[in-house]
Amino acid sequence: MSQSSSDNRFIIIGGGIAGVSAAEAIRKSRPEAEITLISEEPNLPYMRMSLTRYLAGEVRREKLFLHDEQWYLENHITLLLETRVLAIDAPAKEITLADGAKLAYDKLILASGANPRVPPFPGKDLKGVQTLRTLEDADLILEIARKKARVVCIGGGLLGLEAAGAVARQGADVTVLEGLDWLLPRQLDARASAILKEKIEALGIKVIVPAMTKALLGSEKVESVALADGRVLPADMVLVSTGVASNLELAQSAGLKVNRGVLVDEHMITSDPDILAAVAALKDGPFCVGFAAESEDLERHGQEKRERKGVPLLVANIGHETFGMDDNELLLIDANGSHRLPRASKTELAAALVNELAARLVTPIARS
Ligand SMILES: Cc1cc2nc3c(=O)[nH]c(=O)nc-3n(C[C@H](O)[C@H](O)[C@H](O)COP(=O)(O)OP(=O)(O)OC[C@H]3O[C@@H](n4cnc5c(N)ncnc54)[C@H](O)[C@@H]3O)c2cc1C
Repeated sequence: MSQSSSDNRFIIIGGGIAGVSAAEAIRKSRPEAEITLISEEPNLPYMRMSLTRYLAGEVRREKLFLHDEQWYLENHITLLLETRVLAIDAPAKEITLADGAKLAYDKLILASGANPRVPPFPGKDLKGVQTLRTLEDADLILEIARKKARVVCIGGGLLGLEAAGAVARQGADVTVLEGLDWLLPRQLDARASAILKEKIEALGIKVIVPAMTKALLGSEKVESVALADGRVLPADMVLVSTGVASNLELAQSAGLKVNRGVLVDEHMITSDPDILAAVAALKDGPFCVGFAAESEDLERHGQEKRERKGVPLLVANIGHETFGMDDNELLLIDANGSHRLPRASKTELAAALVNELAARLVTPIARS
C-alpha cells in the first residue's frame, strides 16, 4: 500500500479556528500530507470571536479572515466550502458529504464546533429571530441594526451583552432581557451586576431583569416579545444569545464516545484511534479574556463564589470592544464601583484576573 493510502490523507471537518489551526499544524510537520478542510459555511474561514467587533464596526470584514484564498493554494490544502459532512463511517474510514460523495481518510479531525441553543419559545422560527454565530448571521444583523431597528436581545451573558452593545452602536434601539436574577449570572454577583447594569443603561440600552420570555409574536416576521409578566415589547429583530450546544451528530454517527463534547485523551484522540477531535464542547462559549482555561477558572470561581454568600465581587471583561474600552483592557467591578485594569498583554490580564478573583474569594472585601 502506498503512503498516500496508509497514513497521509487528513480530512478536517470544520473550518473554524480549531480546524484551520489543525491544518496549519499538520502542514508544518507533514509537508507531504494530503489535507482536506471541509466547511459548511460559504465564507473563507474567519475569526469567529471577532464577530462582535465586526458588528460594532470596529473590525473591517476583510480583516476577519484567517487566511486569504491564496494561502490554501500555496499550502496545498484543499478547501471545500459550502460542503456539509453528513456522516462518518469509522470502520470504512470514509465520510459522506451532503451530495452523496464519499471521501476516504487515514486520519480524521473533527472540529465541528458548536451552534447556538435557542429555547423552545413559541414563535422562535419567525423571520427576524436571529442568533449570532456565523459571519452570515453578523451580516444580516448588521443590515437590520443599521436601519435603526428595535432589537430585543434575549440573554444577558457575555455574548448577549457584547452583541447588544454592538447593535446599539450601529444605531439600533436595544433592550436586553435576562431570565435569571441579574446580568452575567455566571460571572457576577448581584451587586457587581447592578453596577454593570447602570453602566449599560448609561449607554442608552434598556435592561429588563429578571425577564421571562413567554413568546415571540408576529405573523411571518417577529413583531414583539411577550414577557411572562404581561409586558409586550415591540421588536423588529430578536437576537437570542442563550448558549451553545456542541455539534455531536457526526461523532455519534461514528460511534465515538461523547458526553457534552467528544471524549478525547491528552493527545485529542477519540475512542477511535484514527479520529481526533477538537470539538470545543466543554470549553465553548464566549469566554472572558479569550482563554478557555482561564475562563473555566473564572466560571469555577464564580460558582464557588455564589455558593459563598457575602462575597460581593467579581471581575469581568465585558465587551471591552463594544463598550468603548481599549483592547487588552479589563473592566474590574468591585464593591467600590467599576474601573479599568491598565493595558497589559492578554496573558497578564488573564493572570491578573484570576489572581484577583482568587484573592477576593479568600478574603471577602465586604458583606453584601
Ligand atoms: C460572537 C462570538 C464571540 C465570541 N467571543 C469569544 C471570546 O471572546 N473568547 C472565546 O474564547 N470564545 C469566544 N467565542 C466562542 C468561540 O468563537 C468558539 O469557542 C470557537 O469559535 C470554537 O472554534 P471551533 O473551531 O472549535 O468551532 P467553530 O468556530 O464552531 O467552527 C466549527 C465549524 O465547523 C462547521 N461544521 C459543523 N458541522 C459541520 C458539518 N457537518 N460539515 C461541515 N462543516 C461543519 C461549522 O459550520 C463551523 O464553520 C465567541 C463566539 C461568538 C459567536
